[in-house]
Amino acid sequence: MANLTIRPANETVNEDRPADGRNGACVQEPLIARLPKVQLHCHLEGTVRAATFRELAAQYGVQSVRASGPLEDTYAFATFGDFLLTFAEVCKTLQQPEDYARVAREYAHDAVAQNVRYAEIFISPSVWTFFHADLDVHACLRAMRDALDAEESRTGLYVRFICDLTRNFGTERAFETARIAVALAEANLGVIGVGLGGDEANFPASLFVEPFDFARASGLHAVAHAGEAAGARSVRDAIELLGAQRIGHGIRALEEDVVVDLLAKRGIALECAPTSNVRTGVVPADAEHPLVLLDERGVIVTIDADDPALFSTSLARELQLVADMAGAHDVVRFLRNAVDVSFADAQRKAALHAELDAALESTTQRRIHL
Ligand SMILES: [Zn+2]
Repeated sequence: MANLTIRPANETVNEDRPADGRNGACVQEPLIARLPKVQLHCHLEGTVRAATFRELAAQYGVQSVRASGPLEDTYAFATFGDFLLTFAEVCKTLQQPEDYARVAREYAHDAVAQNVRYAEIFISPSVWTFFHADLDVHACLRAMRDALDAEESRTGLYVRFICDLTRNFGTERAFETARIAVALAEANLGVIGVGLGGDEANFPASLFVEPFDFARASGLHAVAHAGEAAGARSVRDAIELLGAQRIGHGIRALEEDVVVDLLAKRGIALECAPTSNVRTGVVPADAEHPLVLLDERGVIVTIDADDPALFSTSLARELQLVADMAGAHDVVRFLRNAVDVSFADAQRKAALHAELDAALESTTQRRIHL
């Protein structure tokens, strides 16, 4: 198996084009591009195109060193701290419902270009209102819902939202965001769950038991980032204290066998994002990604891009990296895993599997080998 070697960061997904397939270097690329895809770990704010960020920064007078110089260097950063600052700067430029509608629409265009058919996208309203206290979150969700419903009518792409409660803001703010998430769900704006990103090392799961209890009791699904900036215990706590149904990253579960066994036994899937892990320093660039070992140990693995624009990647490219590491057959299996562990209903899951079957059948007929 090949190691996880990340390609240059100047190949971004934007302007309605998939980022993969430009170099034609990998034999699986046509297959990966063709396969219908499910997106389970992608932050909307991390999909904002560099050009859009610069336009909005100019429109609102947001000062940023990232708003000048070559466009392809907009999101060039060297450390995890720089990444967080960049994420924050993107959020500063999102100031009105129409801005959110725009980034939702552009997300949909980029997703469809990669043949994404179903998506559960993270949104972080507590970060939005941290920078813009008067922002009308309901109006932003309404604008995004309208934009995405229009895209769904046009392309069939189905998108729902998971509200991130964001560890850094503490328990009370997380509770507020959980209440907002429930209200948005009740308003039929497409919120289906709560998540937990942010500073995992300093804000453990134990701080967020009540907000998660409230969200789950209100009918929302629960997921959590864990096992990225903190170890296996953080993964176990996300499952046992928060009732997380899937874990974002989770790769440091490997530090304790009992936690790997817990994931496997309970069928709790990991949402793995290889480039993200390298860019944030969690996995060395020259190492085999832990997802291979976790898969071998019986853990359900899915693949995604996390913050694709900021990490200069795409779901298709992450799948290609994994195909290079583990083989295209495993990629197909991981895509099926994503269908199975999504929060789609049984009918939609069956339809997604049928689309995969049809794409694979067509591949066989064209004599393109896996
Ligand atoms: Zn994430």
